[in-house]
Amino acid sequence: MTTTVAQQYKNYIGGEWVEPSGNEVRPDENPADTREILGLFPRSTAEDVNRAVEAAAEAFKTWRRTSGPQRSAILHKAANILEQRAQEIGEALTREEGKTIGEGVGEVLRGVAILRFFAGEPVRPIGEVFSATNPETFLWAERVPLGVVGVITPWNFPVAIPLWKLAPCIAYGNTAVFKPAELTPLTAHLITEVFIEAGLPAGVLNLVHGSGSVVGEAIARHPKVNAITFTGSGTVGRHVYQVASERGAKVQLELGGKNPVIIADDADLDLAVEIVTSGAFRSTGQKCTATSRVIVLEPVLKDFTAKLVERAQSLRVGPGIRPDTYMGPLVSEDQREKVLQYIEIGKQEGAKLLTGGTALSEGEYAYGYYVAPTVFADVEPQMRIAQEEIFGPVVGILRARTLDEAIAIANSVRYGLSASIVTRDIRKAFYFAREIEAGVVHVNSETAGAEPHVPFGGMKESSSFSREQGRAAMEFFTQVKTVYLDMPPAQ
Ligand code: NAP
Ligand code: MG
Repeated sequence: MTTTVAQQYKNYIGGEWVEPSGNEVRPDENPADTREILGLFPRSTAEDVNRAVEAAAEAFKTWRRTSGPQRSAILHKAANILEQRAQEIGEALTREEGKTIGEGVGEVLRGVAILRFFAGEPVRPIGEVFSATNPETFLWAERVPLGVVGVITPWNFPVAIPLWKLAPCIAYGNTAVFKPAELTPLTAHLITEVFIEAGLPAGVLNLVHGSGSVVGEAIARHPKVNAITFTGSGTVGRHVYQVASERGAKVQLELGGKNPVIIADDADLDLAVEIVTSGAFRSTGQKCTATSRVIVLEPVLKDFTAKLVERAQSLRVGPGIRPDTYMGPLVSEDQREKVLQYIEIGKQEGAKLLTGGTALSEGEYAYGYYVAPTVFADVEPQMRIAQEEIFGPVVGILRARTLDEAIAIANSVRYGLSASIVTRDIRKAFYFAREIEAGVVHVNSETAGAEPHVPFGGMKESSSFSREQGRAAMEFFTQVKTVYLDMPPAQ
């Protein structure tokens, strides 16, 4: 417990830590113990955004011409520094966002892997050579950067998401104006420090703290921001898309999910319970890829349900910093309220609450935003708790008579981020992989797993078609220039 005066943090613009234009600050609280304030962060204004965009535009002039090997070296160095600081930054993440220390440090190490992958990108091919009609023409198409990119991120993966945007942004020769979620500014500060220490030139990465409605909005509207990469909610994402695409900017959205797991009648039920428990309750259900619907074939419904309830009741809930905690608090008071409201909605809709369903606020939970792991049964596909993203430790069980019915239920939502099936039958696995409407498909593993070197993103309302991570990131963070170079006549 800190009782000292909280440190006041700054923005990072044009290679310097700078005071924001106004004096408004926001305390950054620990959701496991709100008596701990991790720092005071600027609530910046459009003026700060403008300074950051100008710095990024200036830096772009030279950064775009920096060689691939030079950019690669900086990203490799950043990866090594982040790796050395993994424990420290992982702990900060846990204190700030609430996930467990294992997940916090794990996320930082995933960030290291992301940086290593994208450190390789500037030294891999970035174009194609074609044969032109005129044999004297040298014809090629190459990937070139976009310019200044606005990077707007949510709080739930405050290290990994900024890094899987910033690393390719920088690797392909763009410069960035980074606005992290207001709930997780400290991790954003620490990531920025890592890039500075790695020798990233001034103005290539600019960090502006503040609210979405002021800072995010100003980035989306700024005429010199050529592209926006956004991860967050559908409502905000679609608004950003409208505002930015209207002025001709390139926009990428990664949004919510309502991710299903189908339990086939031949499934290993112990495996199924582990997959659902981890998918639904790790990170307190606050993953875009979290499991929120379990669609169970009738022959195994009773056994599976009993096992899942028993497992949910056995989970250790507490502060993430404690090594034996399985599930930490929700990230904020607002998120907890939203989750409790959905639990009420579920009860009113007639779903059967089997376990959890309440806030935990006694004893060690008194100063945190805790909710017990919650399982609903008798959930019907059209209920709001089966259709809308809850973003908390709540999972609903739905029944299906056939695999086709299960897949139809799985597909009956607006979202299409990730999905999983538990089965021993390879035919069912292939059939599911073909029929399911999801950008990330798992067989016998949880909905919330993604490797850093492969494409990631959703279908339907979960994204805007483009993919992040792996080589797929190049599609968004570059544009194509085609060059016809004709030989001049010989002298
Ligand atoms: P959010 O409320 O949409 O916020 C995302 C970011 O947008 C934050 O930085 C926010 O600022 C900013 N913002 C808010 N209003 C804005 C505006 N008018 N203009 C520009 N930016 C604005 O989402 P969240 O609550 O942080 O995150 C949870 C959501 O993210 C869930 O729906 C989850 O599924 C989704 N998510 C998706 C993925 C994926 O890859 N598909 C991954 C993780 C999370 P503030 O800090 O002020 O809120
Ligand atoms: Mg928000």
